[in-house]
Amino acid sequence: MRIRRLKLSGFKSFVEPTELRIEPGLTGVVGPNGCGKSNLLEAIRWVMGEGSPKSLRGGGMEDVIFAGTATRPPRDFAEVSILLDRDGEDGGEGEVTRRIERGAGSAYRIDGRDVRAKDVSLLFADAATGAHSPALVSQGKVGSIIASKPVERRQLLEEAAGISGLHARRKDAEQK
Ligand code: ATP
Ligand code: MG
Repeated sequence: MRIRRLKLSGFKSFVEPTELRIEPGLTGVVGPNGCGKSNLLEAIRWVMGEGSPKSLRGGGMEDVIFAGTATRPPRDFAEVSILLDRDGEDGGEGEVTRRIERGAGSAYRIDGRDVRAKDVSLLFADAATGAHSPALVSQGKVGSIIASKPVERRQLLEEAAGISGLHARRKDAEQK
């Protein structure tokens, strides 16, 4: 699975609709402190279903919505979409969208269809990726991976091996 395009609107500092195409190969994001580099990685984790505001450097989930500046009013919603290339699997391209509105919580769409948060997390878990994928290493997190406990390392290995999707489905089946 590869991310081909990232679209943001009202997400953190990306107040105006912004579209970034991600070409094959290595992509670097450069810019001065505070320009929004980490916000981009957080947008990817958020659209993949991140549920913890703290890991997005916020106090509550609505903190991802553009909060306004001295010259710009705050926004009422934030929306992020990623266009995926599901290479090798059944289905070519697919776009996952998450939107949050003040006072109304988050909603997800896959290819324009309303879906549950769980559908999005299963889609990414089956592709051995997602909001908690060890492939997404946030600023300052390298040290915590090195210092992690064996149980936490096992989780990393299971995700890297692509079996955490199976765990999620087993848990789902056990609850039924
Ligand atoms: P560094 O090089 O220091 O790591 P960076 O490029 O990673 O910087 P980010 O941390 O992505 O920068 O961006 C921080 C900026 O995003 C700050 O200016 C902050 O005010 C802004 N920001 C974060 N959340 C919001 C929000 N909800 N509304 C408006 N601006 C926001
Ligand atoms: Mg940063």
